Amino acid sequence: MARRTKIIATIGPASEAESTLRDLVRAGMDVARLGLAHGTHDEAAQRMAAIRRIAAEEGRPVGILVDLPGPKVRAATFGEQSVSIVENSEIRLTVGRTRSTVEVMEVDYDGLLSDVVEGDRLSIGDGRVILEVSEADDDQLVARVMHGGVLSGRPGVHIPSDRLSITTPTSEDLVALEHFLELDVDMVAVSFVRSADDLRRLPVEPHPAGPLVVAKIETRAAVDDLQAIIGASGAVMVARGDLGNECRLEELPILQKEIIRECIALGRPAITATQMLETMITNPEPTRAEVSDVANAVWDGSSAVMLSGETAIGSDPANVVATMSRIAERADDEFDHRSWAAELSDLRLTDREEPDSAITDAMTMAAARAISELHIKTVLCISGSGFTVRSMARFRPEARILGFSADKRTVGQLTLSWGTEPIHLPEDGSIEARVESAVRAARETGHVQPGELVGVLAGTNVRSRSTNVLRLELVPPVA
Ligand code: PGA
Ligand code: MN
Repeated sequence: MARRTKIIATIGPASEAESTLRDLVRAGMDVARLGLAHGTHDEAAQRMAAIRRIAAEEGRPVGILVDLPGPKVRAATFGEQSVSIVENSEIRLTVGRTRSTVEVMEVDYDGLLSDVVEGDRLSIGDGRVILEVSEADDDQLVARVMHGGVLSGRPGVHIPSDRLSITTPTSEDLVALEHFLELDVDMVAVSFVRSADDLRRLPVEPHPAGPLVVAKIETRAAVDDLQAIIGASGAVMVARGDLGNECRLEELPILQKEIIRECIALGRPAITATQMLETMITNPEPTRAEVSDVANAVWDGSSAVMLSGETAIGSDPANVVATMSRIAERADDEFDHRSWAAELSDLRLTDREEPDSAITDAMTMAAARAISELHIKTVLCISGSGFTVRSMARFRPEARILGFSADKRTVGQLTLSWGTEPIHLPEDGSIEARVESAVRAARETGHVQPGELVGVLAGTNVRSRSTNVLRLELVPPVA
């Protein structure tokens, strides 16, 4: 079987060259993630255009995800050389953006001195160095180094999120968002979300008219208000890097499973992210533990697995994507589709107050059952917003899912949907016409063969979100 779990690769200095972008697409990148922490918006926009062009040339849909950094706090640069921060030494922290040394670390956050209090623990560079604040004065913090380590460049400074007085999205996020909305970006990730209101503050239309909004779960507050946040989002990222700073590390695997389950219940794609193949930043092979992590993320029900530094700054980005693709494909092969579908009947939330989603829920359930009983190999979902496709994907059917939409933005957003091959289908006439042209397109692209039994899900009304027709059709012979 072909791979069903999607791969997101972060683009950075190591992967910006057009030849490398092409290699990533060929190796299996489904979604390209553009960070905005480094470089200008125009540079990111050029990269986005290049990826779209290359994807079209390669005949492979690739979605674009722009990641808004939110209140990401960083230290001023330590210079060209890395520095060693010694355990038990003392370091002072001030507000500044010029230069950090082993004695004084400048932090680019104006609220540093008012938000941080004595006793707070600060994690620098994703846990490489841990500080405990021993003194908070009007002009500086004094901290003791609890765990020493090596720092370089502009490491992130993690301040406990319940201390931060700035909220997400920041004004910089909103400026960036405006820029990328004009370019019809497919998906936008929001960092350090603490409540559903943080997501509602984004000036975007509901998808597919606007981008699919990905809520990054990486604060304690988000974990405490998970259901509301997932409800207000289009997709969710288990952002294990920062989440690991906010909770005890041994809680991470449990939170990962909980967040993913909640996403499945609500029909939202879940992305498992950070350090999945971390050692491949320098090594040609992952550790055995990393291989297991990727496979287990697939079995937990991730729609997508993500690469960060591995492809952004790593020594061989295309090799990392190819490696992840092999691991995910093999894990997909072993996926227990039957028990999954059985469990999902308990998990899914049928909201009878919302007829559209309740009808789609029941129809996709019926389709999952028919697919399994009749050993149907392909299900065609004809969808406006992608809602039907994502609802079908929740059931993790063994059948291939073809996600048809007349809306190009939906096609871009379906690159994140588990097991889905997104296909643009310009037809939007009567249901008869749409079913016929979808079956024809599937046959012409070689996805289905004449005489084969396929499932087709569609709605009688193009404008309504709900899918109310399930047809089991024999693919007609070529006329
Ligand atoms: P980041 O988000 O890479 O933007 O920090 C992911 C994470 O925190 O895990
Ligand atoms: Mn993060």
